[in-house]
Amino acid sequence: MLRRAVEELSTGSDSDYSKCWISWFLSSKGNEYFCEVEEDYILDRFNLTGLNTEVTNYSQALDLITDNLESDDDIQDELRGSLDVQARLLYGLIHARWIVTARGLAKMLEKYKKADFGRCPRVLCQSQPLLPVGLTDIPYEKSVKLYCARCEDLYSPKSSRHGSIDGAYFGTSFPHLLFLVYPHLIPPKSGPPDMTAGPSVSRESDGRRVAGRRARDELEGSVAEGVGEGVSTAAAALKADRYRPKIFGFQVNEIAKLQRWQEAIRDRSVH
Ligand SMILES: [Zn+2]
Repeated sequence: MLRRAVEELSTGSDSDYSKCWISWFLSSKGNEYFCEVEEDYILDRFNLTGLNTEVTNYSQALDLITDNLESDDDIQDELRGSLDVQARLLYGLIHARWIVTARGLAKMLEKYKKADFGRCPRVLCQSQPLLPVGLTDIPYEKSVKLYCARCEDLYSPKSSRHGSIDGAYFGTSFPHLLFLVYPHLIPPKSGPPDMTAGPSVSRESDGRRVAGRRARDELEGSVAEGVGEGVSTAAAALKADRYRPKIFGFQVNEIAKLQRWQEAIRDRSVH
């Protein structure tokens, strides 16, 4: 079996080879961010619409992840490796669709509650659990980032195994949709995001955000570019790209409003 061959390559043992492909995939090191996509969802071809154009050897890759690949005797050696890559791609793309369904959101919620995606490194965020997010829904473009709902900023995963996961396997809408469906889980903000606060308070909060951003850059390596040593805080603040939460391409309303306000204050205090 192909699966056994893959397992022997990656773990050096064949003790797990009775497991199905998805269990094997989920238990492999580095795949801790993924949740289980229910078989019913995968077997409903409607849910997979369009994926056949994204994945080469689509039917064989689908058969592999659903354990329907009858025999790989006919598969040539050079195809085996690429079929494994295509199966991972297919699972990742299905995963991105699955985690924005009600059942998928519930599965990811369990992982979020266990802080499976890590915690925010900012002191003010008080170990807020993070959520994975993609910067694009197109595969092979950007690796996965982690979103903190408290400071509304993005971080790179600490481990290089997680850092190399494709962001398209989580998609751009997932964390924001989760908070839309479970609004009671939205954490209080770390700064004072009081929309009615006067300019002196807001300048302080803005400065703190920039300071937090700089500290984070030193810690993790920034998502935003151009913030570094030798660059003035004001110039950095103007240059830094802010992350904009979006659901299916639309900006999340409350946060979009808050960001417009924060940027107006920032521009006023910088100029
Ligand atoms: Zn945070």
